[in-house]
Formats: sequence, structure tokens, C-alpha cells
Amino acid sequence: MTTETHAFRAETRQLLDIVIHSLYSNKEIFLRELVSNASDALDRRRFEALTDGSLLTEDEELTIRLDVDPAARTLTIHDNGIGMDRDEVVANIGTIAKSGTRELMEELAKNPDSEARAELIGRFGVGFYSAFMVADRIVLVTRRAGSEVATRWESSGDGTFTLEATDRDAVGTSITLHLKPVDAENGIEDFTDFYVLRRIVKKHSDFVAYPIRADEEKEVPAPEILDDAGQPIPGEPQKVTEEVTLNSQVPIWTRNPDDVKDEEYAEFYQHISHDWSAPLDRIALRAEGRIEYRALLFLPERAPFDLYYREPNWGLRLYVRRVLILENCEELLPSYLRFVRGIVDSADLPLNISREMVQQDRHIHQMRKWLTRKVLDHLATMKKEENEKYRQLWKEFGRVLKEGTSADPDQQKRLMGLLYFASSHDSEELTDLDGYLERMKEGQEEIYYLTGESLTTVKNSPHLEAFQAKGYEVLYLTDPVDEILVQSVFEYGDKKLKSVGKGEVELGTEEEKKEAEMELSEQSKTFGDLMTRLQKLLDDTVKEVRLSTRLTTSPVCLVADEHGISPNLERLLRQTEGADLPIQKRILELNPKHELIEKLQGRFAADPVDPLLEEYAQLLLGYSLLAEGSDLPDPAAYNRLVGKLMLQAL
Ligand code: ADP
Repeated sequence: MTTETHAFRAETRQLLDIVIHSLYSNKEIFLRELVSNASDALDRRRFEALTDGSLLTEDEELTIRLDVDPAARTLTIHDNGIGMDRDEVVANIGTIAKSGTRELMEELAKNPDSEARAELIGRFGVGFYSAFMVADRIVLVTRRAGSEVATRWESSGDGTFTLEATDRDAVGTSITLHLKPVDAENGIEDFTDFYVLRRIVKKHSDFVAYPIRADEEKEVPAPEILDDAGQPIPGEPQKVTEEVTLNSQVPIWTRNPDDVKDEEYAEFYQHISHDWSAPLDRIALRAEGRIEYRALLFLPERAPFDLYYREPNWGLRLYVRRVLILENCEELLPSYLRFVRGIVDSADLPLNISREMVQQDRHIHQMRKWLTRKVLDHLATMKKEENEKYRQLWKEFGRVLKEGTSADPDQQKRLMGLLYFASSHDSEELTDLDGYLERMKEGQEEIYYLTGESLTTVKNSPHLEAFQAKGYEVLYLTDPVDEILVQSVFEYGDKKLKSVGKGEVELGTEEEKKEAEMELSEQSKTFGDLMTRLQKLLDDTVKEVRLSTRLTTSPVCLVADEHGISPNLERLLRQTEGADLPIQKRILELNPKHELIEKLQGRFAADPVDPLLEEYAQLLLGYSLLAEGSDLPDPAAYNRLVGKLMLQAL
């Protein structure tokens, strides 16, 4: 039998190094991680046996066993779960395949402070590898259900691991930890002590659905032996070992919520989510009537690293009468609620329901509708009654919630009430739309917004000028998802949403509007020819040149048609692979009251074919692109013009 030595991938090695040297104080949670993995493996074996009966005989009980050898200082966690074949061991244990490892490493590199590092590792959760906090060597022996051969993996967490084929009597996995010396100050207790193990299991893994067993050594009085006179002979008490179950196995959602402590809920959440922090909030639901089920949902405190991945790992756990059917059931909630973790236990579904059946099932559809509404209602209440907590949630998951406004038209109204935006009203605090409505000025008819790449560019955009002059609030929409939001949401509370960067602007009372119109038609007479000339010069990129009613201090800006797309959306679409967009021509607006435009007009009137005009057309275009935060199509050409201008002024 050969032993192969493999090197861990660089990322895994780095992470291991951090785990081993991290100052994570709560080292006992390694046991929760290993028990959770064992419990998942047992779930999988039971699940696969539903379709292939040979994988689990009826008389085999699915269990987790903790074995200790105090003299050798080892603790072994056995399970008779699904096990792993050689390739699976390499893929699952030899590498940290988890999404987000790289991001984690980057974050860690930025954070020298040990507490912050421990917190980051906590957010990430290192599962199996957490065992290296308490062990300096780990041996894993595993045999996949359906296979005859077993695999032995061993590592001291030092950059390499070994693999060899071996034998194992039964299907399942045993993980032996060669424990570090007891060091109570650093959280390394005697993990070979029955009472220590019992306490840890009770605390972190009590609800695990399978029995977690260990041997308890008990002293029993010596058997009574009587002497000739019929008197008992005093004898030494005897030691016996007895296998006991450490966990109660009661599913937490079947208990009366009043009897369940916060910590117990937190432990359960950590068990199902593999998150190391406590949840921010929970929602316990119970439906009775035509369909009967319970749900226990959690809102995480922090966003997982893979939240925005193309294929994030999400979905609730689906149980049927307390039996786990699907680990990640994505059908139970829409994807814009993918940050919600938890379980649903149904009394009505068949036990052998398959993933395909779940997609079609009427009960599941009903549950999804109901759960979605309940979660959104819960969020609305939280926003009202525990606003600070809600804002924390918003910080982590707001962008995901916004996706719902276009993805789920049925809930659009509810969702709109949950959103927060940056706005010109307050540079620090975000605002919701109700707050905006309350602050609307008299005569203001629409909800104004501007989309853009960053807060800085949006805040400083010339498009805001007339609105600021009137004291009208403008929402700053700078998340990419905002562009999709404004494509599908047109109003809130009877007020239309309007981009300040699109279409024409008419502000103020009827009288003011009339006045502005008259003024504009006067100005058009003055600037008409100049505008035609500029239009000709910029024909490739500009579809119209007109006078602006939205500018007060800037000389020019570019605007889109009422229904055109914003430059920000255009940029985003171009970034997405394969988006081959034709150039969107926009409208160049001139501020007739600006000195620069007035002087340009003077120059043009004196000499309509002045070659300088050509350069100024390009300069004005570049100016307006930079002002809104867009890229210049030809920065070098623009710079040449500016350079020339600078020289002239000297
Ligand atoms: P996580 O559990 O968060 O996915 P881990 O590092 O704890 O990450 O485990 C990695 C993978 O190794 C698991 O997803 C599982 O596929 C496999 N694994 C771990 N422990 C066991 C076990 N006892 N039995 C079978 N597979 C296991």
C-alpha cells in the first residue's frame, strides 16, 4: 500500500496557518463543526438511501460516536454517514474549495489586528480546519457508501497531507484528533474528559437529529459479598463504562418558542448556516389550516462572501415531518431573500419528494408565497420598531433586497417601503421613500433621483443644479442594481420617479414655468445659430444641442432622452461580457446665462466660421462628460486641447 504526500494549495496553507495561530478564544467550537459535518454526512446517507436502498440497511442506526483515549490524548469522532472516496477527500479536505477564500485572505492581509482577524475567520467559518486549533495532527479514515475501499488522510497542518488506501469495517468517517496539551488559559481544555465533551455537545449540538454517544465511566459500589456471619465485606467500588447519548435530539422548531433560549437558537442557526456569529434576528412561524408547516428563519448579522456570486449557495432546509429532505431548497424563497437562512418543516409533503417534484409542487408554491410575505412583513416591522437593527441589516443585504423590485412585481410595493437611499437631504443618513415624500416641497410633483457610479460623481453632477436651487431633494442611486430598479419602478405613493439626468426639466408653479418658457424662446433666438453649428460639429456623439433649464452654475451638461438609458447603465452594460451596444447619442444642454456660453456666442456672431469653435465644441463635450463622471472617448485629444488653452492664457 503506497502513501502519497500532497501539498495543500497555497490558499489552504495560508488559511491553515491563520487558523492554527489565530487567537480565536472559543476553541471548543471545533467539536460543533465536526459534529455538524458528521450530521450532514448522515443526512446525505439517509437521503441517498431513499433512492438506493442498498446504501443503508434497516437495522443500521445512524449515529455519531465520540471515543477518547486519555493516555494517548486522542479524541475520535465517528459517524456512519455517507463517507468520502479518495477524490472527494482530496477535493473536500485537501483544499478549501469554499467560495470567498481569496476574498477572505485579502481581507486578512489588510487587517493586522488579531481581534479583527479572529472575527473575520469567524465570519468565514473554517469548518473542518478549526480542529487544528486544538490538535496538532489529524487522521481521517473514511469509506464512501457503496464502496469497499477506504481512504486514510493525515496531516499536521504544516503544508502537506498524506493519503493512502486502507480498510474500514463499515461505511462512514472517523476523525482522530491528536490533541494539543491542555492549556486552559488558551481555551484548550481536556477534550478527552467525558464531562467536558458532554457540556460542549449540550451547548452547541443538542438539537442534532442523530444521537451523539460517548462512554461514561461510572463508579459503582462493590457487589455485596457477605461474610459467614452475614455481614457485608467492604470492597473497592468498581468502574464500569456505559454508553450514553449526550444530546436531546429534539428539533428546536418543535419546542415552544418561550422555552427556547436565545443561545439555543443561535447554536441551531450556526449549525445549519455554518456561520460563526449569532444571527441578527429570527422569525418563528407556524401555519395551520389547509397546509400545515412550521418555519424557523434567521437573518444573519453579516453578509456571506458569496452573496453576489453568480451561483450563491442558498436555500432553506426542507424537512418533512422532521426528516431532512433537501439541504438547500431554493424554491421556498425568492432569490432576493437568499440571505435568509433557516428551515421549513412540512406535514403535508411526501417523504420521498425529489428536487424535481419540489419545483412543481403546489404546496411548495403556496409556502413560498406565504413565507415571502411573512419575511417582508417582519422586515417592515423591524424597520419601524427596531430601526437601528434594520439599518444594520440594510447595510449588509440592502442591495439584494433591491433586486426584488424588478424580480417580483407582486411584492414591489412592499419592497419599495423597505428601501433606503442616499440623498441630497442628508450626507450621512440614508433616507427611505416615505421620508422623501414627507419632505417634498410645495409644487414639487415628482421624486427625483440620479444614478451614477459613485456618490462623489453623483453629488457633484451639474444635473442637480436647478433642483438644488429650488431646494428639491434628489436621491443618489449608486448601486448597479439601482439602474435595474428604476427600469421597473415608476412611482411611489402616487408620485412618479424621475431622473434629473433625463428629459426636459420644468420646475416650479405654473406661472414660473410659463415665465421660463418665454425666456427660453427669447434666448433661442439669440443662440439658435450657435446651437446648429455646435450640433454639426458634434454630430457623431450628440443628437441635439439645446438650451438648459437645469443648469445654474455649469456651462454645459449632457442629458439622455426621457426614455433613454443613463451613461451609468450604458457603462454597466458594456462591462457585461458580450454587450455590444451602439453609441447612445445624447443631448448637449447649454446654460445661456453662463459667461462662457455668452462669450462663445459673441465670438460666433463675429465670425461664424472661426476655427476656434471646432475646438471649443470638443472641449465642451469633454467638460460635460467629466462633470457627470463619464469617461472621455479620447483623453489624449482632450488633453491636447486643454494644453493649448493653458498656453494661450499664459
Ligand atoms: P463545510 O462543512 O462548511 O462545507 P468543511 O471544511 O467543514 O466545510 O468540510 C468540507 C467538506 O468535507 C464538507 O462539505 C463535506 O463534503 C466533507 N466532509 C467533512 N466532514 C465529513 C464527514 N464526516 N463525512 C463526510 N464528508 C465530510
